[in-house]
Amino acid sequence: MNTKKLKIGWFSFSCCEDSTIMFTELLNDHFDEWAKLVEFKHIRVLKSRNVLEDIDVAFIEGAITSESEEKEVKKIRAVSKRVVTIGSCATTGLPSGQRNQFDADTQASIQFLLDRFAQSEKVRSVPEVIQVDDKVPGCPMNEQKFLSVLNKYLEEFGVCTPKT
Ligand code: SF4
Repeated sequence: MNTKKLKIGWFSFSCCEDSTIMFTELLNDHFDEWAKLVEFKHIRVLKSRNVLEDIDVAFIEGAITSESEEKEVKKIRAVSKRVVTIGSCATTGLPSGQRNQFDADTQASIQFLLDRFAQSEKVRSVPEVIQVDDKVPGCPMNEQKFLSVLNKYLEEFGVCTPKT
């Protein structure tokens, strides 16, 4: 019997976290199956003891809006063999990054908030900051695409064989 598991991380940056809610909803249907195939190394929504090391696949939701988020996402990239963006904010920067499109007056009127919360001048998508291997689009994420990416990595990392 194959006892190998896919070590995954699930991370949220600046966003509404709807894809995280979708993921927890998916657990209603898939938990028993995934518990045998997946090791949850880092997923704050499910557990408080998380380990940021030796991750096979990191799923990242949300846009990058500050220097501290930039540092964190680079750390995730450094310890993950594959990185997948989850949802539109992570993949394209929008809709979280709407302030990038504000006119100069509106930009000026929100500057005090950017300063107070140490926000970067521009909001960036995850691929603008680190290299990614796959993208799951949608707002929130496209569920079928997420499942097909997860299945692809279960096969690639030798956790289970392709379904015929
Ligand atoms: S892509 Fe949509 S659902 Fe996902 S975090 Fe952004 S706004 Fe929320």
